[in-house]
Amino acid sequence: MSIGDGTRAVRAGLPEPVKHEPTLPGPVFAAHFHLPGEPTGPYTYGRDENPTWTHLERAISELEAPGEAVETITFASGMAAISAVAFSQLRAGDAVVLPDDGYQALPLLRERLETYGIEVRTAPTGGDSQLRVLDGAKLLWIETPSNPGLDVCDVRRLVAEAHARGALVAVDNTLATPLGQRPLELGADFSVASDTKGMTGHGDILLGHVTCADPELAAGVRRWRKVVGAIPGPMEAWLAHRSLATLQLRSERQCASALLLAQALKERTDVTGLRYPGLPDDPSFPIASRQMRRFGSVVSFVLPDKDTAERFLEGLSLVEEATSFGSVRSTAERRGRWGGDAVPEGFVRFSVGAEDPEDLIADVLRALDEAA
Ligand code: PLP
Repeated sequence: MSIGDGTRAVRAGLPEPVKHEPTLPGPVFAAHFHLPGEPTGPYTYGRDENPTWTHLERAISELEAPGEAVETITFASGMAAISAVAFSQLRAGDAVVLPDDGYQALPLLRERLETYGIEVRTAPTGGDSQLRVLDGAKLLWIETPSNPGLDVCDVRRLVAEAHARGALVAVDNTLATPLGQRPLELGADFSVASDTKGMTGHGDILLGHVTCADPELAAGVRRWRKVVGAIPGPMEAWLAHRSLATLQLRSERQCASALLLAQALKERTDVTGLRYPGLPDDPSFPIASRQMRRFGSVVSFVLPDKDTAERFLEGLSLVEEATSFGSVRSTAERRGRWGGDAVPEGFVRFSVGAEDPEDLIADVLRALDEAA
């Protein structure tokens, strides 16, 4: 039976109904499970498995690859998920290709990988430039749309080239969520995300996941989680599962409002460098419209200078000045304040929430007028 995203989201990962049991069983708090005799699974020790993770992991698998046999492994954060893929696959002497305009902790990962004797090459996301440095690499790491610049690359093309040269491909799908883009369907070996963002959408938990179709790759990632112990707490896992039920509703509203905001910003002369992959004249649009089903809740733009951007952020009344993105409450920040991204001082990353779009856009336009 073919079902829509909303139906899938509300039902994802629910166990078979059991009389007098809740629809979504509550979090299981257990360091160990009763285990007489031979130590067989599924539940033995709390660092290896937990029933609350099982439900969440099934739910994420259904969203990442409806109807396909894939495995999801959840983690304590997005960085734990990213590290699990990198460190479970790469060995001393291997080469990996990272984007040079991706999430700002990737340079920290780079530093660590290099310490372990792994060669790290970087190239921008736009123009599929990572292809230029792919020869001989073991793993290609893609982040599309990229954070915070919102460039997009052609996942199918990069995967085809990488696989032809024997490289595995991981896609950081944080910004799109599986309702916006399905990396495994585009051919990637790993779909990885920080579920701290749009996936859970309330700005109240940190979580991450890795989904892959190949059981051997999944086993490597799972083993890494056991070794490092970067496991999700049962409460976080349960909250995440509960939040997934509204993923389609949230995405629908947030993506639609992001497009409206981008269109409103396009009209302003004080806004330059506007990026939103869903704007038909955005450089990312031709590829984004082929491989994405929704364009995300983040809009990026540049104000004339640091002071104007700071006045704008202070002047907003419905938007919290905070990092992260994907929450039902709009947030925005001047990205240059961290020093890690190659962006102008007036660069603003704006995460559109679930407020009424008219209210949000009125607030933004007023704050821009006052900041000018
Ligand atoms: N990937 C992307 C694209 C991100 O934006 C972030 C965090 O901002 C991460 C990964 C890391 O996720 P976490 O903060 O959950 O560790």
